[in-house]
Amino acid sequence: MKKEKRIGIPRAMSYYNYFPFWHGFFNKLGFEIIISDPTTKKTVSDGAALVVTETCLPIKVYVGHVINLIDKGIKNIFVPSIQSIAPKVYNCSKIRGLPDLIRNVVKGDFNIIEATLDKSEKNNNLIDFLTEIANQFDITDSIAIKDALKNGFVVQNNFNVMVQNGLEFDEALKNAKKGQVIIPPKKTDKPISVALIGHGYNIYDKKVCMDIFKKLEKMDVRVYNAYQLTVEQLKGGMNLLHSSLYWANQYEMTGCAGHYFTDNKIDGIITITAFGCGPDSLMLEDIKRKAKNYSKPILNLTVDEHTGEAGFITRIEAFCDMLYRNKRAKLIKSKKDLDMVKI
Ligand code: SF4
Repeated sequence: MKKEKRIGIPRAMSYYNYFPFWHGFFNKLGFEIIISDPTTKKTVSDGAALVVTETCLPIKVYVGHVINLIDKGIKNIFVPSIQSIAPKVYNCSKIRGLPDLIRNVVKGDFNIIEATLDKSEKNNNLIDFLTEIANQFDITDSIAIKDALKNGFVVQNNFNVMVQNGLEFDEALKNAKKGQVIIPPKKTDKPISVALIGHGYNIYDKKVCMDIFKKLEKMDVRVYNAYQLTVEQLKGGMNLLHSSLYWANQYEMTGCAGHYFTDNKIDGIITITAFGCGPDSLMLEDIKRKAKNYSKPILNLTVDEHTGEAGFITRIEAFCDMLYRNKRAKLIKSKKDLDMVKI
């Protein structure tokens, strides 16, 4: 039986990187797109109840979002397996195995719409991957699939431009979906600036990161992140740290850190990583080791489903206090040096 052109997309994991593309792609093919609701305590506990305790928080959240879509009555849920995005550049095993995980732990009346993108072992390309998805709905017109791909890139590029120019995630997404590009006026400076380093699913999910953007803004701190950088800037950051690319999401961590280490407007670095994440712990070690050469203070915040908000805020406040004091001391010293020169 032909599947209805209605697709559910979990608001988790790659949603925070590629949803604009998926919106453009499925929309062009005439789909109704349903996104799961924003993460709540229930999303986390529903997901956590179905997987082993050691699983990282983002995966528990993902499972919770699939359940949310099933509860909404969505029959076709998009769960791609993005194995490798370039030769010898891989996602972690949990991301690679998402369709298998969902198939095995989530029971209900729904179809998994899956396809595999693997630029290493299988060496398939994006169009093969998209065709595999479209064929599951009996869409075989290669011209229509190519048009949908182009539309996906248009929406994604528009979104990227807006985020790189400082528009917030939700606003940029809303505009990109309407086909609009709105560049916000340049923001006024704040007393201190930090680079927030982490994967999109950790820093943009307000429940996972406890809305850290808002908390820092309230503390009068300007926040920068990987999504405001171009691919060239992220590659430059990787080169600066002499780190070779292995993980698909390494640019968001290592490339971003490398870029902001040499950016004078950045007073400190905050990283957000998921408890139990192997790739993040390797990347973080690399970043911390190399940070010593650039004298930027670093705070690492680890999140899991038990992370308490009070402790989280206390650590951010203490770190920002220290950055304020450092900056004030530097300003006083440079004023004194200037006065000396005048004498
Ligand atoms: S990279 Fe880390 S946080 Fe992300 S899914 Fe894999 S183990 Fe979890």
